[in-house]
Amino acid sequence: MSQEAIPPIPDLGQRTDEITIYAGPCSVESEEQFNEVAECVKGLGLHWIRGGAFKPRTNPHSFQGLGEEALRIMKDAGERYGLLTLTEVMDSAHCQLVADYVDGLQVGARNFQNFSLLKKIGEVTADTHQMVLYKRGFAGTIAEWLAACDYISDHGNQNIVLCERGIRTFETATRFTLDIAAVPVIHKQSLYPVCIDVSHPAGQRDLVPALAKAAVAAGADSLMIEVHPNPPVALSDGPQQLTPAQFEALVAELRQIAEVLGKKIV
Ligand code: PEP
Ligand code: MN
Repeated sequence: MSQEAIPPIPDLGQRTDEITIYAGPCSVESEEQFNEVAECVKGLGLHWIRGGAFKPRTNPHSFQGLGEEALRIMKDAGERYGLLTLTEVMDSAHCQLVADYVDGLQVGARNFQNFSLLKKIGEVTADTHQMVLYKRGFAGTIAEWLAACDYISDHGNQNIVLCERGIRTFETATRFTLDIAAVPVIHKQSLYPVCIDVSHPAGQRDLVPALAKAAVAAGADSLMIEVHPNPPVALSDGPQQLTPAQFEALVAELRQIAEVLGKKIV
């Protein structure tokens, strides 16, 4: 039987030779807490620190974030340690305020289809082209995600990073099901870089290293990892946050994998 010619498989994981890590606590809780993580991140030669100032909590009685006080703490730490800062903006009314304090703006999973927020972020960052890290919703398809990017880009900012953070499935062993296939699928369909948030799908810190290594191997352009100086007393997402020592050990492992792929972790 004659064989049909099958085109060679392109390497959908190769996009950049740098893999950026966005590490930091789930919530900014105090200057001392945030600076301790900033010192760790800087010491590892990484460039970005994340932290929540306005928190999208399921229960309104849970810690809601320190708001503008957290933005101030982030800006000070960014300047002191020479790091770029990333935080979530939840409300259209806060877009300008947040953009004035930090380098990157995050759209959280719960605002995946908050189109007025996406438009406002596009408008507010049209001149600065600050990075917008746009997370996938729990029940959002990749097609819906890529379509909605235009709400940001049409208003003037194409500096978008798409962040897969796990979706809802029937599985309950993990907090969310990480869709690792989002990396090659998006690389095939768009030019936007793909970030994998490994902390929120894991839900438990002992699962984080395996997901992070898988993300690097799958060709992710960046990773998000939550790190807290003392996770048992964290005001949000304690069980999934790594200690600075655990994070340092993981970065060392990720650097070995990245090297095999001809990439470096920054
Ligand atoms: C977060 O990054 O802290 C967060 C709340 O993420 P998500 O929107 O993915 O739940
Ligand atoms: Mn969190």
